[in-house]
Amino acid sequence: MDPKALIKEAYAVQKQAYAPYSDFCVGAALLAKSGRVYCGCNVENAAYTPTNCAERTAFFKAVSEGEREFAAIAIVGNHRDRTPDPEQFCTPCGVCLQVMAEFCDPEQFQVILANRPDRYRILKLKELLPYGFSLSGSEDTCHGGQL
Ligand SMILES: [Zn+2]
Repeated sequence: MDPKALIKEAYAVQKQAYAPYSDFCVGAALLAKSGRVYCGCNVENAAYTPTNCAERTAFFKAVSEGEREFAAIAIVGNHRDRTPDPEQFCTPCGVCLQVMAEFCDPEQFQVILANRPDRYRILKLKELLPYGFSLSGSEDTCHGGQL
């Protein structure tokens, strides 16, 4: 799928962000290997801890629909009233990266960060989370990465 098409979907769902506390609105569009796209926005909460990021919203929607394999995610995020800095990109938080690592090959999964519909960077999950926690490594370690 063209990255710009996925970015367009991320911008569309960003409008649904529920962010009354931070005013920082995020949209994510997750492309499953099946070809389906699952979109999510951030959903904040007055108690803060229950807040869910856009990326995890998209992942949890997809997983709850039976998806387990993913190709890419497009992420857009900016303060509601500010024009995004053209040099800045909204990167996923550590918790969301760990969720991505649960389902995605870190060498293959593409994280598409956009700050305008036509301005984006594509990173591999491995670049954003080089030493993520994993139980899939050797039996004597709980860490999947070689240090
Ligand atoms: Zn997050």
